[in-house]
Amino acid sequence: KQEGRNTYRLYSTQLDVREHRSLAMETALRNTIDSGEGLSLHYQPLVERNSGALVSMEALARWVHPEYGQVSPGDFIPLAERSGLILPLSQRLMRLAAAQLRSWLDNGLQPVPVAVNLSAQQFWQHDLIMQIRTLYEEFQLPAGLLNFELTESMLLDKQQQAIRVLQELRELGCRIAMDDFGTGYSSLSYLHQLPITTLKIDRSFIQQLGESAGSEAILAAITGMAQGLKLTVVAEGVETQAQLDALGKYQVNVIQGYFTGRPLPAEDIASRYFMNNRR
Ligand code: C2E
Ligand code: CA
Ligand code: CA
Ligand code: CA
Repeated sequence: KQEGRNTYRLYSTQLDVREHRSLAMETALRNTIDSGEGLSLHYQPLVERNSGALVSMEALARWVHPEYGQVSPGDFIPLAERSGLILPLSQRLMRLAAAQLRSWLDNGLQPVPVAVNLSAQQFWQHDLIMQIRTLYEEFQLPAGLLNFELTESMLLDKQQQAIRVLQELRELGCRIAMDDFGTGYSSLSYLHQLPITTLKIDRSFIQQLGESAGSEAILAAITGMAQGLKLTVVAEGVETQAQLDALGKYQVNVIQGYFTGRPLPAEDIASRYFMNNRR
C-alpha cells in the first residue's frame, strides 16, 4: 500500500511537469500568434509524375521559439486545437500564404497554386468562405491560386453541410484535396458525392510498397477508383527512386515527398522552382 501511494505520487508529479510544460507552451504559442514572430510557412513542391513539372505547393506551418527551438507542427497544431488557439493560428497562416503569393506576383514570378491545410474547427467556421473570399480580394489573387487540404474525419456526421461548404470553395475556383487518404473510413459512394478534386494517398501506403501485398491491393483499389471518379491522385511521402518506380504501375498523377523536394522557405522554393517563370 505504501509503495502504491509513492508510485501514485511520482506519477502525479510527472503529470504536473508535463502539464506545466504544455501550459507554458500554450502561452508561448499564444504570444507567437499575437506577434507573428517565429511563425512561418514552408512550401513543399508537388510535381507531375510524367513530366516532373511543378504543379502546386503545400504550405506547411513552422514555429521557431527562442526557448523551445523548432517545434514540430505535429506537436503545436494539436496543442492549438486543444487550447482554442487553432482559429487565430490558422487565420494567420492562411494570411501568410496569401501574402506570399501576392509578393511572388509583385516580383514578376508566376507561382503555382499553394494548398493550405484546413483544421476541423476552421472548416466548420460559419464565415470560412467569407474569410477566404476576403483574402482573395485583399491580396488580389487570381482565382484558384489558394487551394485547400482537408481530412475525411473532419467531414463525418455532417456530410450534407460539408458538401455545401466544399461546393462554395469550388465556386471560388479552389481545388480541394482529401489528405491522408486511405487511413479513414470513407465509403466509395460518399467520396463520389463530395465535390473534391484530389486524393492524397497517405504516406503509410507508399512506405509499404514492395513489403505488404495487402497495402498494394488497397493502393490499386484507391487509384483505380480515383481514376473512375476523375480525381487527381497524389502520392505523399515518396522518399526514394525505388518507391517512385514501384508507383509506376498505379494511376498516380502527382508526386510529393523528400525524393522530389523537401519543404523549403519561400525564398528557396521560388529560386529553385519558378524563378525562370518570370512574366
Ligand atoms: P500533412 O498535411 O500530412 O503534411 C505532410 C507532412 O509530411 C509534412 O510534415 C511534410 O513535411 C511531411 N513529408 C513530406 N514529404 C515527406 C517524405 O518524403 N517523408 C516523410 N517522412 N515525411 C514527408 P510536417 O510539416 O511536419 O506537418 C505535419 C502535419 O502537421 C501535417 O501533415 C498537417 O496535418 C499538420 N500541419 C502542418 N501545417 C499545418 C497548417 O498550416 N495548418 C494545419 N491545420 N495543419 C498543419
Ligand atoms: Ca496536408
Ligand atoms: Ca498528408
Ligand atoms: Ca497528416
